[in-house]
Amino acid sequence: MMLNIGFLKKMSKKDTGVRYEDVAGIDAIKDDIRVVLDILLGAERFKEMGAHPVKGVLLEGPPGTGKTLLAKAMAGEAGIPFYSANGAEFVEMFQGVAAARIRSLFAAARKNAPAIIFIDEIDAIGKARSDVIADSGSAEREQGLLQLLTEMDGFFRDDQVLIIGATNLSSALDDALLRPGRYDRIIHMGRPSPQNRLKILQVHAKGKPIDRSNDDALLAKVAELSIGYSGAELANLLNEAAILAVRKDSATIDLEIMKEAMSKIRVGLPSASLPDSEAKRRFALVEASR
Ligand code: ADP
Repeated sequence: MMLNIGFLKKMSKKDTGVRYEDVAGIDAIKDDIRVVLDILLGAERFKEMGAHPVKGVLLEGPPGTGKTLLAKAMAGEAGIPFYSANGAEFVEMFQGVAAARIRSLFAAARKNAPAIIFIDEIDAIGKARSDVIADSGSAEREQGLLQLLTEMDGFFRDDQVLIIGATNLSSALDDALLRPGRYDRIIHMGRPSPQNRLKILQVHAKGKPIDRSNDDALLAKVAELSIGYSGAELANLLNEAAILAVRKDSATIDLEIMKEAMSKIRVGLPSASLPDSEAKRRFALVEASR
């Protein structure tokens, strides 16, 4: 089907170009993921133990915490093709198209296995059926979900395809998706701790003229101040700082520039959702550092 050829071209990548070293501050998760990939790729020691591959990994966490980046790094690191789709786009399609596309996505991945299929915003398609108010998209969603479940169940033990889903909210997902043999491994990706913020800042500071007069003291200070920032927001902060440095004709990015960038960018976490003490501390820190 013509429709599917264009679609698949857009959705597949031979090499994502992302590696583990690009994803910072999630060492324990990376260890876990390495094992999943080792089994997928048929490491002998797991076979000998009779361990079956994990079929599905669900990455759960707020936006910008590196879920897509990690999925790409897994494919990049393993040197296997990466197929990606977004749950929301399946819902908008005409009658029957969503199911057909899911079918061809899985068929292509199987053909080129070992491979990874990444479905972002899986909740759009995999919403708990009881929570869905009947609307024009609900029949499509239901069809798409059923097709997804059929594909996941149709996998044989030796099919070397790993399905990664990403969502902000796993509790909204249909229970059927979370059954063993479907998304049977759930990994929570939260907002980074101060130490992990430093690691993420270090990754994104590469190639930027950060003031190093005191080694990494500047980045450490920023890591301390950037409470509640996600990885994406930290990357954005450094970018904003680089732009400011150019505008100010400064050869380096120093603490003043970093603070100005911090006061410019909006951080996604609404202060109302922070615990009170955390919100106050954050406000006080930024105020004090002005
Ligand atoms: P999500 O899929 O969770 O919404 P992404 O993986 O799309 O988030 O992250 C967006 C961007 O934010 C990444 O491309 C990267 O630049 C940055 N980022 C997020 N988390 C990390 C991390 N742990 N280490 C390095 N960069 C990160």
